[in-house]
Order: sequence, then structure tokens, then C-alpha cells
Amino acid sequence: MDTSGSNVDHNKVLFGSRSVTKLPDTIKRLGGSSPVILTSKGKNGTANGNMLAKILTDASMTPAAILNVAVMHTPKPVTEEALEKLKAHAADCIVSIGGGSVVGLGKALSVRTGLKHICIPTTYSGSEMTPILGETENGRKVTRSDPKILPDFVIYDVDLTMSLPAATCAYSGVNAMAHAVESLYAVNTSPAISKLALEGIQGLAEALPAIVKDSNDRSAREKAQHAAWLCGVCLGTSATALHHKLCHTLGGSFNLPHAETHTIILPHAVAYNAPAIPDTMQKLASVLPGSEGDAIRGLNILLEKLEVSRSLKAFGMREEDIDKATEIAMSMQYANPRAMEKDAICELIRRAWAGEPAR
Ligand code: NAD
Repeated sequence: MDTSGSNVDHNKVLFGSRSVTKLPDTIKRLGGSSPVILTSKGKNGTANGNMLAKILTDASMTPAAILNVAVMHTPKPVTEEALEKLKAHAADCIVSIGGGSVVGLGKALSVRTGLKHICIPTTYSGSEMTPILGETENGRKVTRSDPKILPDFVIYDVDLTMSLPAATCAYSGVNAMAHAVESLYAVNTSPAISKLALEGIQGLAEALPAIVKDSNDRSAREKAQHAAWLCGVCLGTSATALHHKLCHTLGGSFNLPHAETHTIILPHAVAYNAPAIPDTMQKLASVLPGSEGDAIRGLNILLEKLEVSRSLKAFGMREEDIDKATEIAMSMQYANPRAMEKDAICELIRRAWAGEPAR
């Protein structure tokens, strides 16, 4: 499916360069007129709340407020403070612009207020396509799924991703790829989801190295954004397994960065499950350049090309946390193609911690 170049409206999803200019119409269509605009705390490049406010005021619409407050893992105190401001400014809908962190805050506010939520994603997290929300309180991340959490409209405008640093593109893109990989062997997978997943994985495997080579490559960024959308659909409709559960444990318990953790764990989690899913491994290998029929080789080659860090140690995980992470991972109950074997899981985490390639 080629969505490049033109504005394609898939009912709830709008693609294309300058599609952000359709924001005022989209807000009106959803019955709103005065949105709260959410962005991430810190530097956001072109994912800019003031730019959105100008588009709205040019269309004679007044934003209720701009809140530059979102941080990773959706801490409840941040949400509660934003909720007070949203009410004080009488916002009648929510617009989130940026990565998964700001989409998370938008979801948390929308599910608490019932207000419509429009997302303008500028990373490849895929969160905008899922009814899943993970919130953190007192150092614990609790995830829930509810159809009410699913955003009401998504605008994918490649122009707004151009300032996302190439390294962030690489980590975020592998995060998206992981959604699709797990959907290939999910307990509720289907031929349709597998098709979307393989298209998404292939798109990212081709586009991400091109972005790392030339961060101004607009068509590669467009391809990556489209592929990430497909991967987000996969996450939104499939059960997750070892990979996502492990990343959840590591991120939540040891405060490791989200997309980076997904990137490091992915080849190891796939290697663990490989003996139980030979057909899936063949399919996965078929969309990974240079794999020569071996999906793990294909993933290792991709990560080398992306020049990403391969070790959890580099992000602050301590060696003594390996046993603790193994225990938490073993205590979780979920469907996975291969049974959870304590020694093998511990070795998986150790290799990821040390930065040894998957095998
Ligand atoms: P993020 O949202 O924190 O963004 C990463 C960095 O990119 C931030 O510093 C941000 O300011 C910057 N950034 C974003 N857009 C930019 C742009 N256009 N130009 C320059 N910089 C830009 O990280 P993420 O990886 O996108 O999202 C991680 C969060 O999303 C985590 O909290 C994770 O739990 C959540 N998530 C949720 C789901 C779900 O389905 N619920 C899925 C994936 C991720």
C-alpha cells in the first residue's frame, strides 16, 4: 500500500506531508473547538505546540492551553497535574504531538475525562494505534487495555518527524518492529495480521538504515512512518509474549529507556523462541536483508547497520540485577511459544546486559 506523497484518509488515520494543516477540520469533525495541546518536556524539534497553536488560531480556533509536560512511562502525578490544568482551561478535546510518552499522557487524560484524543505521532512507538496504557506510580508500571483508551484520530505528517535524531529513529523503529515480530507468533495471530506485520518489518528494515545514513532522507522517513503504523496496528490487535513482557520488566523495574531496551532485547527474545517457531523464523528471515534464511543473523546485521548500543549495561543496568530481572520475568504468566526455562531466560538477560550478539 503506497501512501506516500498524497493525503490518504483511512477513516481515522491521515497520512501525508502537510497533513497537520487538517488539524482544525479534524477537531471540528470530532465536535471540539478548544483543545489542550500536549507535548513532551524538553526538546521536541518540529513536534512543537506553538506551531500547532498557530495553525489553530489561523483557522479562528483558540487552543485552551499548551502543556509541555509529558515524560516517559506516564507517571500518575504528571497526569493528575495536567488534568487539573485541562479542567481549569475548560479544554473540550486533546491533541498530543510527539512520541509515545506524549501519546501516553493524552490517553491517560482522555480515558479520565472522556474527551476525544487526536494524536500527531513523531516517533515510531505505535502507541497511537493501541488501546493500551501503561502508567507508573511509586516506581511500578501498571498496564491496562480498554477500547476507550484508543485515540480517536491520528495524523501522520512526515514533515514533523524530520527533526527526530537519526539515533532516536533507529531505536524507535526497532521498537515498532518488535510489535510486529511478536504479532507473528502471538496466541491470537491471524493471516491478515501476519501480512501487515511482515510488510511493517520489511519497511523498517529497509528505511531505518537509510535514515541513519542520511537523516534528511524524507522518503525513507515516510516509509518508516508508514511501516511503524502497520506495526502499531499489529500491537493494537495482538497479544504480546516474552519480548514485550521482558522489556516491560526491565523498563519498569530498572528504569531503562523504553525504545533502547526493546532494541537490545529483540534479537535475544526471538532467538529464545526460535526452536518453537521454525515456520515463523523463515517468514521473518524472508523480509530481513542479508539474513540468508536466518532471522537472527538478519536482526544482528540490521542492528549493526543502525549503530545502536547492544548492551543494557550501557544504560545503567547492574550485573546483580540480572537475577532479579529473571525472577520477575519467571513470575509473570502469559502465553509464549516456548516454555519459560529459568536458566535460559537468565542467560538471555545476561547476554543482553553484556552486549553479546544474539545467537
Ligand atoms: P518519547 O516519546 O519519550 O520520545 C523520545 C524522544 O524523542 C523525546 O526526547 C522526545 O522529546 C523526542 N522527540 C519526539 N518527537 C520529536 C521530533 N519530531 N523532533 C525531535 N525530537 C522529538 O519515546 P517513545 O519511544 O516514542 O515512547 C516511549 C513511551 O511510549 C514509553 O512510555 C512507552 O511505555 C510508551 N509506549 C506505549 C505503547 C502503547 O501501546 N501503550 C507502545 C509503545 C510505547
